[in-house]
Amino acid sequence: ASALAASREYATHPHIASSIEDYEDAKVILKLFQDEFNISPPEDLPVFPAGTEASRSATLGINKLTKPTAWIDTYYPIMNSPLDRSLQIIDSDGSVVWDADLVEDGDPGDAEAAKYRDAVPTFHGLSRDGDVQGQLIYANYGRKEDYEELVAKGVDFTGKIVITRYGAIFRGLKIEGAQNLGAAGVLIYSDPRDDGSVTVENGYEPYPAGPARNPTSVQRGSVQFISLYPGDPTTPGYPAYENATRTEGENIPKIPSLPISWANAQRLLSEISHDHDARSLTGEISETKVHLVNHVDTKVMPIWNTMAAIPGHIKNETLLIGCHRDAWVMGAADPTSGTVTLREVIKGFGALLKSGWKPLRNVVIASWDAEEYGLVGSTEFAEDFPEWISDNVVSYINLDVSVAGSQWSPAGSPSLAHLIHQAASEIPHPTDPTRTLWDAKKDVGPYSGEAHADSLATYDGQKQAASHGTGVVPLGSGSDFTAFLQRLGIASMDQGFGFTPSDAVYHYHSIYDSQQWQEIYADPGFHRHVTVAKHLGLVALRLTDSIILPLNTTQYALELDDYLDLVIREASSDIVEAVNFSGLRKSFKKLQHASFKLDKEKVDAEKNFKKALGKLPKREDGIARWLRWLADLLLHRGKPVKEFIKAAKRVQAANGKLVAFERGFIHEEGIKDREWYRHLAIAPGKWLGYGATPLPSIYDALVYDKNITLSQEEVHRVEKLLGALTHTIKP
Ligand code: GLU
Ligand code: CA
Ligand code: ZN
Ligand code: ZN
Repeated sequence: ASALAASREYATHPHIASSIEDYEDAKVILKLFQDEFNISPPEDLPVFPAGTEASRSATLGINKLTKPTAWIDTYYPIMNSPLDRSLQIIDSDGSVVWDADLVEDGDPGDAEAAKYRDAVPTFHGLSRDGDVQGQLIYANYGRKEDYEELVAKGVDFTGKIVITRYGAIFRGLKIEGAQNLGAAGVLIYSDPRDDGSVTVENGYEPYPAGPARNPTSVQRGSVQFISLYPGDPTTPGYPAYENATRTEGENIPKIPSLPISWANAQRLLSEISHDHDARSLTGEISETKVHLVNHVDTKVMPIWNTMAAIPGHIKNETLLIGCHRDAWVMGAADPTSGTVTLREVIKGFGALLKSGWKPLRNVVIASWDAEEYGLVGSTEFAEDFPEWISDNVVSYINLDVSVAGSQWSPAGSPSLAHLIHQAASEIPHPTDPTRTLWDAKKDVGPYSGEAHADSLATYDGQKQAASHGTGVVPLGSGSDFTAFLQRLGIASMDQGFGFTPSDAVYHYHSIYDSQQWQEIYADPGFHRHVTVAKHLGLVALRLTDSIILPLNTTQYALELDDYLDLVIREASSDIVEAVNFSGLRKSFKKLQHASFKLDKEKVDAEKNFKKALGKLPKREDGIARWLRWLADLLLHRGKPVKEFIKAAKRVQAANGKLVAFERGFIHEEGIKDREWYRHLAIAPGKWLGYGATPLPSIYDALVYDKNITLSQEEVHRVEKLLGALTHTIKP
């Protein structure tokens, strides 16, 4: 009931990043932290421009805190807002044949969806301003292989308007591919073929009458070139302070684009072919031209991360938890489901604090802003405090869309897989008391019917990579874990209930991602929201309060062999045969052996610690008793206390190695051609965006560059890096 009420409050107005509503919401979360963590609100609102003394000491002072705090950091990225846009079909004599409406119908029966129909026009975040004309060509998903196939057919993309469908890869890459071939502009539409079995053909009514796609729905979304770097386009690698020195913004497209509905796309596709479905890679080109106008206002805009910190007993170990707050329109699933889920966890922490609990480690909770424009709030924070994060953060727990369908899918660093699995096996399934949350990984939706063979459209942080047996897939990108994991080497995780081919169509980044849709189709009763909160809460408590951090480095070390197998499978055999991998395989072995030893070190350190703790004089409640305990301690100064300090140091040393493990994959020079990404074990796929690529520096050299010398160099580079890591974790 609490989650449902909060969702009704948060998801019934638009809250695009940098809007007044977004700022109001930032303050709502601030107040939530203050109320739950018993923080007395300071006289002045604690809203700090990033880079100022107040902002810097809020984060850097976490290690010295004695009680919880909360504040808002303001960053200043470049973003855009839509001005006028149009899309027309132009005859050979220059007259307008058809003028697209470019709007979503809204829902007269849904007060908010009706009221805010035009609140955030259909446009692409960080799209290029432009006014272009060209003939139309269909390019399927706009993947690398789609473009290559068309080029092989002799298609000249110069000056063309490319129409692609959503799905399979991150949308910005569809535009990057078209731009590289000289296209003038790009349209991306939502194709019912990617809606699984819940289609009109199968007899389902479109939303709001039924669970199928509303044909006027449009998927907004950022088109930044995510594979280059995320965050503010003009400050790659460093924080977007108000007075920052800015670059041109290399990750913004150079050609304009628009997202469009299936209704509008059908009309356009008929220009490519009148007599058959134009949705095949024939290379056919329309006779008529399309006139695409995308006027946007691109400028520096403020965004607000709301932050809270709870001090723990150990001052230099922190668990970071975050979810973005901004939405394209109302965003009942994206990200309000995540935000209200996190709110339940915050309330849980609040209740524990009130009962006298103090975590062993610090907890920092973030409500990130401007994720939708390209992970901006989280990335700027990570770029602002890289040293502090590297020195202190033991893990990052992300949440984004916590419910958009019926299948639970966890993702994360292999070292967290066992923790995720264990917790999910202890938590009941949201609706079936005979099963657990882990079982919900196999759940499907309630609707049947023939499904297209095509993949489901991808969305925020949704993973596609294989899971190497643990059932927890590696993280690619598309949500706020990216900077922490891929740049700083923080073990990270994400989770949520996603949609399946038999679920109601999820109107991602559309006006129809509304509270009404969420209540009727995605999570009637809000049990899934609550279940994710329970899982997150349990995982968080184990990370904050276990003496030895629950990180399994051996799982990680063993998976590296699978990672390499996958790379080798995807590369062509002539290159694979020319490269020597034996040294790399050996370095995996050595790392695995070092990790086995670390496993023993963990067990011994914990045992030893508990023993030493047992020998300490007992501490009892009440001031007088506590004083006696202190006196006892002082008198005993000598053996038990010294032993205890020694044991605690051993625990800290073991934990330090566990944390160093993921850090050990970070290479200062980064991945070639996309140096912002520095994690050499995992990165977002260069041409996937959302999906993960294992051993990315090696993968890119083998699969994309197809260069033997470079591949061998990259193999050596990882080998050396792992050698250093083995040395770090050795007893
Ligand atoms: N999660 C957002 C999306 O998929 C933003 C991802 C990004 O730009 O990196 O559209
Ligand atoms: Ca930046
Ligand atoms: Zn999201
Ligand atoms: Zn989103």
